[in-house]
Amino acid sequence: MNQHLEAINKTMELFERYSHAVRIMQYDMETICPKEGMEAQGEDIAFFSNEAFKLLKDETFMAEVEAAYKEMDDSWNEFDRAFIRDMYRGQLKSSKITPEMNLEFARTTQKAFADWSRAKEAADFGMFQESLAKVAEKDCKVAALRSEIPELKRDTPYDYMLDDYEEGMTAADLDRIFGECKERLVPLLQRIQASDKKIRTDFLSRKVTEAQQKELAYKVLNYMNYDLNRGAMTTSEHPFTSEMAVDDVRITTHYYDDAFASSLYSVVHEGGHGLFELNAPRENWEHHLANKTMGQHESVSRFYENMIGRSEAFCDVVYDMVAECMPQVVEGVSKKEFYEAINTVTPSLIRTESDEFTYTFHIIIRYEIEKEIMNNGLDVAEVPALWKKKYEEYLGVTPDNDKVGCLQDMHWTEGFGYFPTYALGNMYNAMYYNRMKKEVDIDAAIKSGSLADINAWMCEHVWKKADRQTPKEWITEITGRELTSKDFLDYIEEKYTKIYNL
Ligand SMILES: [Zn+2]
Repeated sequence: MNQHLEAINKTMELFERYSHAVRIMQYDMETICPKEGMEAQGEDIAFFSNEAFKLLKDETFMAEVEAAYKEMDDSWNEFDRAFIRDMYRGQLKSSKITPEMNLEFARTTQKAFADWSRAKEAADFGMFQESLAKVAEKDCKVAALRSEIPELKRDTPYDYMLDDYEEGMTAADLDRIFGECKERLVPLLQRIQASDKKIRTDFLSRKVTEAQQKELAYKVLNYMNYDLNRGAMTTSEHPFTSEMAVDDVRITTHYYDDAFASSLYSVVHEGGHGLFELNAPRENWEHHLANKTMGQHESVSRFYENMIGRSEAFCDVVYDMVAECMPQVVEGVSKKEFYEAINTVTPSLIRTESDEFTYTFHIIIRYEIEKEIMNNGLDVAEVPALWKKKYEEYLGVTPDNDKVGCLQDMHWTEGFGYFPTYALGNMYNAMYYNRMKKEVDIDAAIKSGSLADINAWMCEHVWKKADRQTPKEWITEITGRELTSKDFLDYIEEKYTKIYNL
């Protein structure tokens, strides 16, 4: 083995021990840690994270990475090549950022988070405005510093931020994709709203117990072939997935006594994230590779949640499970009514509670605003008004305060560039869904008693190489085509034209 790589691997083993400990503590914090215990645990998390961080910032280590990058050739295996390439790119990105700047940036985001929490509570954007301006300043500074490095050169400041979440993605790509979405989704939404189709949704809020929902959640996970010997589930306020270790991937959900579908689809969504991790090659762990992008990850979770989970075949399967675990919910309800209720389109204010159809608008709105801040110097004081204007324009709804408006998400306390990946996930999965349809009888697979056949196809085509390829290489290899919104828009149009008899 290359001597530099050998030295790097040794450090990485230690890095991973610290990181594993941090992940366990973080999972604990968000699930079961009592309020009074959080402060001490928070300090330990900060300590161990910093120990891990120092290992990668060590000058000898960084020199080893650079040397390995320069010596790397085709005789290296793909895993090592992908790992070193990403380590080197990461180093390059932060090469102009001094430790003082780094500290200042961390303070900015920490203060932004605290201000945002208070501002949201009080529904008052004014309390967050100054912090948001500082966050914008930070991102613009990072973009300017990276633009001095020829290998990282991008066309616009915002492109540098996008690159952190979805390598190679640009504002020009997104303008095109979201432009196409608006062109087709705006008139389609008008037709849906004008349709006289009535969908009954009354039974979605029928009372259920936590025990009933838990029983349903495990039934669904088993049906998804989620290996509970290598995975676990508990509850948290916001559902999430944690890749703890090679044989340990944990998800969370939440239980509301008047919204069983909320937990059900959280389980399917997080279960999708979990399946992706559990079925990635074991070699990824041996080679310290964990490079799935947000877009790749969301493509998989939303594939399970929407394309599979909200399909008629899946709704039929779940209907039977619901009838077993919580019979009162589907009493007097037909399978058709169940499917339609799960897919009802209702323009609303809150992104995380929106339906499959209107979700894209929530993302487009955030994208247009953050791009305007970074590329055209929009004064952040204008954000609440612009937010309202765009919600009226695209969805016909108006937030009457900032809590249900521009303060609803925490993402901007960290910076810009994250939101578009959610929508990109929908574009990717619609593209590979079209290939899957040609090779797998999807409805038959869904009705076969488990998702084993679907998972096997995903494993072979979608999961195997995700950590070793850029998103561009990945989607092109799976589908033979470059990123397009066409498949997603065709899928949406076909599905909702049918449901609403358009
Ligand atoms: Zn997700």
